[in-house]
Amino acid sequence: MTNPTLLILAGDGIGPEVMAEVRKIIDWYGEKRDLTFDVTEDLVGGAAYDKHGVPLHDDTMAKAQEVDAVLLGAVGGPAYDDLDFSVKPERGLLRLRKEMDLYSNLRPAQCFDALADFSSLKKDIVAGLDIMIVRELTSGVYFGEPRGISIVDNERVGVNTQRYTESEIARVARSAFELARKRGGKLCSMEKANVMESGILWRDVVTEVHAADYSDIELSHMYADNGAMQLVRNPKQFDVIVTDNLFGDILSDCAAMLTGSLGMLPSASLGAPMANGRPKAMYEPVHGSAPDITGQGKANPSACILSFAMALRYSFDQGDEATRLEQAVEKVLADGIRTPDLMGIDGGTPVTTSQMGDAVIAALEASL
Ligand code: NAD
Repeated sequence: MTNPTLLILAGDGIGPEVMAEVRKIIDWYGEKRDLTFDVTEDLVGGAAYDKHGVPLHDDTMAKAQEVDAVLLGAVGGPAYDDLDFSVKPERGLLRLRKEMDLYSNLRPAQCFDALADFSSLKKDIVAGLDIMIVRELTSGVYFGEPRGISIVDNERVGVNTQRYTESEIARVARSAFELARKRGGKLCSMEKANVMESGILWRDVVTEVHAADYSDIELSHMYADNGAMQLVRNPKQFDVIVTDNLFGDILSDCAAMLTGSLGMLPSASLGAPMANGRPKAMYEPVHGSAPDITGQGKANPSACILSFAMALRYSFDQGDEATRLEQAVEKVLADGIRTPDLMGIDGGTPVTTSQMGDAVIAALEASL
């Protein structure tokens, strides 16, 4: 049996700092759980621009297409703010998503009990929250044509087009139904079928996919504006939510913030299955390169560590090991171990990025 392969693109700012902690965890799985990954590292974002003059070299793109999963840190920073749009660090990230055709973006919003006080909502509304938002990532209004700003009747007109094909809706719906099947068995689809034809099609196609292959899943539909209200009123009513690119962008940020800190939020972007049955996949923390804390040992590595847990679950079929890692992070938090972003109301023991990673390893050891 060959080892599963990983491409690590640590990127810029705190990206390499949080990824160093994930490397320790990958090594631990090799030593202690007989789960060895063949790891390659490469450059993305500003780091790739500095070396190659582009935010993602063609060779790196080719490697990303070959491996079982990509782990990405973060890209960007003030040094690159004035670059031409075509070579900005974020273009490297967008190229990966586009060429790997990662159409299904998974954003969990999970509230660890130890952090319930960090939420802006009341503790009883968020404690124990565990929902998953699936956002369509490669189509919709961010990509639809026509688009642009032009002059019509002597004034400027801005145009973007919301466009979805049946197959684009069906594939992301399938991905969400599959997730619901592995979780609580409930899916809520959100659109604006009351005012948008693309929303009517979205609702129809999700309903058809449900009837054809997923009638064991409890499906509901909700207008996206009501969805936003329900997310802050009673988020625990949801299990999996599926929605389009634009609504998903907004709703997933809203849901994520229910849980407190940007340093805790992982994500996965999945595409079609490869020849080996694994989906094309990239895992990355939601946060950016955090230039304000780069190089100071203040970055919380949890989001990146939890992104690796998602890789264990969704790319490598290691759900039990993913749960072991998530519980290790939870234990560290419950013990009051805190990077500076998590210090606050309840005090706690302040630690550096590296000490936080070591604490997670200690909790993994204790789980054996
Ligand atoms: P950011 O996520 O980098 O930081 C926002 C705030 O959250 C900062 O105060 C930062 O210190 C804090 N923070 C973020 N991650 C943290 C962590 N792991 N631990 C502790 N604190 C953390 O967003 P920003 O400041 O708007 O953007 C900074 C740069 O990152 C920009 O160049 C932006 O374009 C880029 N960016 C990249 C991505 C990505 O790579 N996916 C996402 C967002 C922003």
